[in-house]
Amino acid sequence: MTDFLQTLSHRRFNPLRGEWVLVSPHRAQRPWRGQVEAATPAPLPVHEPGCYLCPGELRANGERNPLFEGVYVFDNDFAALRPENRVDEFNDDGLFVARVESGVCRVVCFSSRHDLTLSRMETRDIRRVVDVWRNAYVEIGARENIRYVQIFENRGATMGASNPHPHCQIWASSSIPDEAAKEDRAQADFLARRGSCLLCDYLARESAARERLVCENDAFAVIVPFWAVWPFETTVIAKRHFGGLNELANDEAGAFADILKRLTTRYDNLFSAPFPYTMGLHPSPTDGPAYPHWHFHAHFYPPLLRSATVRKFMVGYEMLASPQRDMTPEAAAEMLRTSSETFG
Ligand SMILES: [Zn+2]
Ligand SMILES: [Zn+2]
Ligand SMILES: [Zn+2]
Repeated sequence: MTDFLQTLSHRRFNPLRGEWVLVSPHRAQRPWRGQVEAATPAPLPVHEPGCYLCPGELRANGERNPLFEGVYVFDNDFAALRPENRVDEFNDDGLFVARVESGVCRVVCFSSRHDLTLSRMETRDIRRVVDVWRNAYVEIGARENIRYVQIFENRGATMGASNPHPHCQIWASSSIPDEAAKEDRAQADFLARRGSCLLCDYLARESAARERLVCENDAFAVIVPFWAVWPFETTVIAKRHFGGLNELANDEAGAFADILKRLTTRYDNLFSAPFPYTMGLHPSPTDGPAYPHWHFHAHFYPPLLRSATVRKFMVGYEMLASPQRDMTPEAAAEMLRTSSETFG
């Protein structure tokens, strides 16, 4: 029986990470009050003098950006990972363990325009960004010391994004990071136990039920996952089974751009405001072996709760016990489904 899912407190299992989330539907039973307007942010200029991501402006390392059009990629001036040659570690009694980590950090400007977002860009221009992601995954992932290429976008001041200029980051590391490692184990275990792919099976069930499906095209579907932690968390899942960005076909790259624009527009329209989020791609690792169990997908983790001014924090119980949510994923999916894919 699933009748308790909308009425009683319960835990839901995330099979992709092997973790649980506490869902408390009754805490959100007060009626939805519709869009609560945020203080409308002042419109951004097309070009912001002093912005280190704008064409022709000065960067922190003293270099001047070229007068680029469209996408522009450069090495992060404050890289968290650097191409160290040294391989070294220590392990003192299993209590003091550390390892040298090397890698590459790049910044990808989506556009020369300071005032755009993925939602406001043309699909063909987002497609150029997707091509840059695919090329970077292939080029950096081929390096001897790179085991994972993490592509992510932090959008909005509430997410700690330091600059509203539309951009993302690529952090490629000599280790497989924890989140990817968890998903790797979960997907490999699922294939070993069930003889099928976790996300292929999951997407087939969600596509039939449609309860948590937000939108889709020929190659991708957007789901509010059954185990979503963040209020309007979504997962963009490839309809075809493949793991690496190198396997993303040209028509799929176009479809990925299309679904990113449609989803981010729905987000913006939900609260009539530019919607903050952390978004990241999860392609398979690049350390050499095949990853037949890995299914390409992307996560959106937006922190907003009930309006553009009320955000969720992971504190208290969530830091000490487990993540918790009030509104159910089904209710969030319904709201995202009714949110428009065009700007009015
Ligand atoms: Zn700028
Ligand atoms: Zn699959
Ligand atoms: Zn993932």
